[in-house]
Amino acid sequence: MADDLVNSFMNGPDEQGRFGIYGGRFVSETLMPLILKLEAEYERAKTDPGFWAEMNDLWTHYVGRPSPMYHAERLSERLGGARIYMKRDELNHTGAHKINNVLGQILLARRMGKTRIIAETGAGQHGVATATVCARFGLQCVVYMGKTDVERQAPNVFRMRLLGAEVIPVTSGRGTLKDAMNDALRDWVTNVRDTFYCIGTVAGPHPYPAMVRDFQSIIGKEAREQILQREGRLPDTIIAAIGGGSNAMGLFFPFLDDASVRIIGVEAGGKGVDDRMEHCASLTGGRAGVLHGNRTYLLQDENGQILEGHSISAGLDYPGIGPEHAWLKDQQRAEYVSITDTEALEAFQLCCETEGIIPALEPSHALAHVMKIAPDLPADHLIVMNMCGRGDKDIFTVAKHLGVDIQT
Ligand SMILES: *Cc1c(COP(=O)(O)O)cnc(C)c1O
Repeated sequence: MADDLVNSFMNGPDEQGRFGIYGGRFVSETLMPLILKLEAEYERAKTDPGFWAEMNDLWTHYVGRPSPMYHAERLSERLGGARIYMKRDELNHTGAHKINNVLGQILLARRMGKTRIIAETGAGQHGVATATVCARFGLQCVVYMGKTDVERQAPNVFRMRLLGAEVIPVTSGRGTLKDAMNDALRDWVTNVRDTFYCIGTVAGPHPYPAMVRDFQSIIGKEAREQILQREGRLPDTIIAAIGGGSNAMGLFFPFLDDASVRIIGVEAGGKGVDDRMEHCASLTGGRAGVLHGNRTYLLQDENGQILEGHSISAGLDYPGIGPEHAWLKDQQRAEYVSITDTEALEAFQLCCETEGIIPALEPSHALAHVMKIAPDLPADHLIVMNMCGRGDKDIFTVAKHLGVDIQT
């Protein structure tokens, strides 16, 4: 095998699901057979052209792929430096990248003969995407959602119910995303025969982080082709926002072996990355530990208790991060930075005003970092940022922060 293939950043994970010292499968003995079965099925599907033909058909006609590669001309001009492109994944059906992955997992579930789909959700975006695809295929859908989140995210709870899903409020722990994921894992063990667990980000035990990354890689594959077509060369910098890390891994993965491409992941800095821990920056402000079946960077206190963190963007407040990101950070292949609530809000407004695009608060974090670096870069420097979600869902949060009352 050629040396460059051995050293490829795109070779991971190993057969234990490890990216360096991260990842793996730290699960109970009862869960292990399920995980192994899933892995075997995924390995089969991965090399089956029939599987990808079905995916492509749905991506094209149901999701609306490929998403455009858009030159943000006025934003580039306003910042006065680099040439900025946006990968428009907010134009997907359901308004974000989540459906790319959900489709893949549900097609896999169908191949495995599973009729009941379970999922965890925090802000509700993954729950909505899962409920959507379950409706499309007439599958039973059960979504675990922390009780606190059920109260905070009423519109998404209603959407899931309209789509025929059962939403189960989780009261264990602190009643948020972390606890919803624990309950979903428990459900899976008890209902092995007919149930498939659809995870919403590059987290969980192996093979989930690699599988979700593979499904989301459609973002980076398209981006690579599109920018080559538009500009005749690769981008100089690619940037994406990180909650669990799936849209970022999806954009990054096809570029990992292109040494000339600078890769930047943007975490939610909340009220600032310091000891108050009012942020969700697992990589820039957390420590390594084990959660949800894998080893990665986590928000935790000095006793190893998982902390909830804070972000203006509900979609970014997962206390961990995909293990592959932890590894890419240690390998220094990707850089990780954080952006505060205030900076994200400013970017949100600038995007609305200069491009006529209302972004979700999550990609507003990526955009805020673009605002920081673009002015100092030359005019021929190409930046591609992932516009991973649209902002319709966030207007109430933004209004509140701007001191505007829009509740009727
Ligand atoms: C869920 C979500 C995220 C965070 O999840 P990742 O796995 O980090 O991509 C980011 N942006 C949007 C729009 C989301 O819905």
